Amino acid sequence: MHLTLNNKVPVPNKNIVGVIGGGIGGLMSACLLAADGYKVTLFEKNERVGGKMDEQCFQGYRFDTGPSLLTMPFLLEAFFTSCGESLKDWLILKEVHPICRYYYADGKHFECYEDPHKTAQEIGRIAPEDQQAYAEFLEYIRVLYDKTADAFLFNTLNNLSDLKGLNISSFFSIDAFKSVSDVIDERFSSVYLRQFFKRFTTYNGSSPYSAPGTLNVIPHVELNIGGYYILGGMHTLVKQLEVLANKLGVQIHTNTDVRRILVDTSGTRKKIEGIEYISIQNFASQNLSNEPKQLVSTKFYCNKVVSNSDAYETYQHLLSSRVRPKLQLLQTRYSEPSCSGFVLLLGLDRRYDQLKHHNIFFSKDYKQEFHDIFHRKKLPNDPTIYIANSSYSDPDDAPNGGSNLFILVNAPYLDTLSEDPTTTVYANKIISDLENRGLTGLSQHIQYQEIRSPFHFYDRYRSNKGSIYGTSSNGLFSAFLRPRNQSKAINGLFLTGGSVHPGGGIPLVLQSAFNVQKLVNQSKH
Ligand SMILES: Cc1cc2nc3c(=O)[nH]c(=O)nc-3n(C[C@H](O)[C@H](O)[C@H](O)COP(=O)(O)OP(=O)(O)OC[C@H]3O[C@@H](n4cnc5c(N)ncnc54)[C@H](O)[C@@H]3O)c2cc1C
Repeated sequence: MHLTLNNKVPVPNKNIVGVIGGGIGGLMSACLLAADGYKVTLFEKNERVGGKMDEQCFQGYRFDTGPSLLTMPFLLEAFFTSCGESLKDWLILKEVHPICRYYYADGKHFECYEDPHKTAQEIGRIAPEDQQAYAEFLEYIRVLYDKTADAFLFNTLNNLSDLKGLNISSFFSIDAFKSVSDVIDERFSSVYLRQFFKRFTTYNGSSPYSAPGTLNVIPHVELNIGGYYILGGMHTLVKQLEVLANKLGVQIHTNTDVRRILVDTSGTRKKIEGIEYISIQNFASQNLSNEPKQLVSTKFYCNKVVSNSDAYETYQHLLSSRVRPKLQLLQTRYSEPSCSGFVLLLGLDRRYDQLKHHNIFFSKDYKQEFHDIFHRKKLPNDPTIYIANSSYSDPDDAPNGGSNLFILVNAPYLDTLSEDPTTTVYANKIISDLENRGLTGLSQHIQYQEIRSPFHFYDRYRSNKGSIYGTSSNGLFSAFLRPRNQSKAINGLFLTGGSVHPGGGIPLVLQSAFNVQKLVNQSKH
């Protein structure tokens, strides 16, 4: 390994990889490459790895502050197998029953189960006219998944041949020219089932009124394959990835902020030379005296860089203007980010019996809500409120019979990169909305409260404009515009994580790591 403080450029061994960022995309890519024999060093700017899949523990309360639901567990299984391990030795996945309880604005509620018969009974109670449509829709999305997964999920989408025979006429058969909302309105007549199915587009931070109907494939993975919780908390995945990375010999440096990707322009093709970083701890101790000090940067030489930093950040800020590829620059500048999130963590000294593990309190006017988020770019006046209450499945997550509520409202990505001064007002509004929806006396039972606004996601994880799922799918060509896992302009530069192909969310981020593994192994540089 070449870790050097001077400016002499050593010729790096072909097998040395630098990973920028220790989110799950960076950790998984690092493990896969280390298992393949590469010497991998990972640099994370925060004091711990995990990125958005973070955890907060306070006075006996434990919160997952990122993902609360795992889908497509077969990808995790394939990951551990590729690393020479077995999933069951590392994680215990637990199916959640019911998958989710839904509350509508008119006071009705329904529970969704992996068992379609149980869900059908629930639908029979609130919308009998849609019972048959539900069964047909589950089959429709199963077929949709079969038609599209190979093309859009399980390959690198680098060439037209990756579309696996899908052409412009077959785009009609996958409802690409209609919106998610249009397809659902055609298939269901009750307001309940319509709002229920439109919700899934938010799993990748998009609007059901703008995203192509093909995205109706998202509920397939939850309803036909299943929704899971990781025993001990979702963050256990991060802890185990860190242990696995260490076992495989990955060097992990936290508090290490990468400032530049170094590119050699001397030959006919630009190629990776290494990265330059600063140690944040050193920076802090240098500043103790309050005297202006020069920041000391360190160079790490390698011939492959895997960036888990947001693609926008990678192309706009980590590459110097001299070497930035124009196409990706435009791509990342003009793609619409996904929505952000407004998060409220509440530690309560009581339980609410009506709350299950996953709960959704729907807004009254869904269309208006998405108009507020994506067009007015304002926090919605009447938000849909999601609550993950992991103490329902794991009572140890809250002390003395209390509960730990992770509350998430879809929020616009940032227009200006600054903290919104009205966050406390909005948090109080959410608490009061929930009191009106049946969580009586909620405000009097709060023992711990923390707000995480869209600015937090930008500031802590450098997500483009605070987006939580990379780029949105609010357009027909969004899948094609999402940055790919390998730079065609710079030899040796690879990208992993939720901001690049195939998209955000744990399973897709994992797929991006598989893509990087494949592309690194194919590259001759
Ligand atoms: C509130 C919330 C709820 C979610 N719910 C779900 C869910 O239920 N199910 C699901 O599947 N997904 C969910 N997601 C999405 C999922 O969390 C993300 O898709 C995934 O964690 C992204 O991982 P990543 O590795 O791409 O990026 P990140 O987690 O953003 O990691 C990137 C890392 O790179 C570091 N970094 C950036 N720039 C630099 C630099 N220059 N130098 C060093 N380090 C750098 C950052 O600090 C960060 O640690 C949710 C996300 C959020 C925020």
